[in-house]
Amino acid sequence: MLQRSVPGSPFTRERSHWLRVLTLFSPIVFLASTACAEPLAVEEVAEGIFVHTGSHQDANRENHGDIANIGFVVGDRGVAVVDTGGSYRLGWRLREAVKSVTDLPILYVINTHVHPDHTFGNAAFAGDEPEYIGHTKLPRQMAARGDYYLARLDEFIGEGQAEGTKVVSPTRTVAIGKPVELDIGGRVLILIAYPQAHTNNDLTVMDLKTGTLWTGDLVFMERIPSMDGSILGWKKVLERLRGMKITKIIPGHGPASASWPEAQNAQSRYFEELIAGVRPIIKQGGTITDAVAAVGKGEADKWELFDDYNPGNVTKTFTELEWE
Ligand SMILES: [Zn+2]
Repeated sequence: MLQRSVPGSPFTRERSHWLRVLTLFSPIVFLASTACAEPLAVEEVAEGIFVHTGSHQDANRENHGDIANIGFVVGDRGVAVVDTGGSYRLGWRLREAVKSVTDLPILYVINTHVHPDHTFGNAAFAGDEPEYIGHTKLPRQMAARGDYYLARLDEFIGEGQAEGTKVVSPTRTVAIGKPVELDIGGRVLILIAYPQAHTNNDLTVMDLKTGTLWTGDLVFMERIPSMDGSILGWKKVLERLRGMKITKIIPGHGPASASWPEAQNAQSRYFEELIAGVRPIIKQGGTITDAVAAVGKGEADKWELFDDYNPGNVTKTFTELEWE
């Protein structure tokens, strides 16, 4: 561009000067923009467990994709990150939060499921060379959906915000029925993979030391749950989680932590209302449109984003229960 402008024009000279200065400093500017990125605000919800609370919105140009609860667990030997946020930038800011708490290495980056608000910060940790861990079905889901999510990311979270974001697949996976133990020094994390529930690749992280369970999106609080798997499967998983010895949970969306099993009361009630509302409509030969118009209305003022997600949830419940 510079070479092609008319030589000698004062404007061009001035412009080229500034462009040269900018070019000279751009690597520094880039480094500064990542190196000095503001750490995400985190809260220590139990000894050594730090959570950043996302906003109860869909990803948009104001929140830049910062909508999920993400965080990390600090052991004596190193750190396990649990979910990484909706972009490289958010992942980097989470990494800065880790660095503000400890100098220990980041050993593991765990993804609770495929959704971009939980996985798109993965690339920010590549330099730490952690093991990336997820459900055995996660790699395939990332391959199937990653590019689709990525192509739309800028549009959703704002121009330039998606920069650096990549699909980073697990290097190690957890199979259903075969929990994985991670010893991060002085504390053991148990990773459990579940059958189809919120998605077909849900994974929880249990910290044995404090009895804290990272549920990922198996538990939504305050913000309405979104169905991307199976309502009956999800209900079954919740029953199983209710039977586990858990002191508190960190929900995928909602407060930084909450006591168990009370934390899932609202979600279970909503699921019952969906199932109890949809079944008779199917039985009477009603349509999805009938169901969407009628089901779940009693929950409308109990959830944020109700109008955005209830129709989809009713539709998915209908298509699943249709086959009973
Ligand atoms: Zn999700």
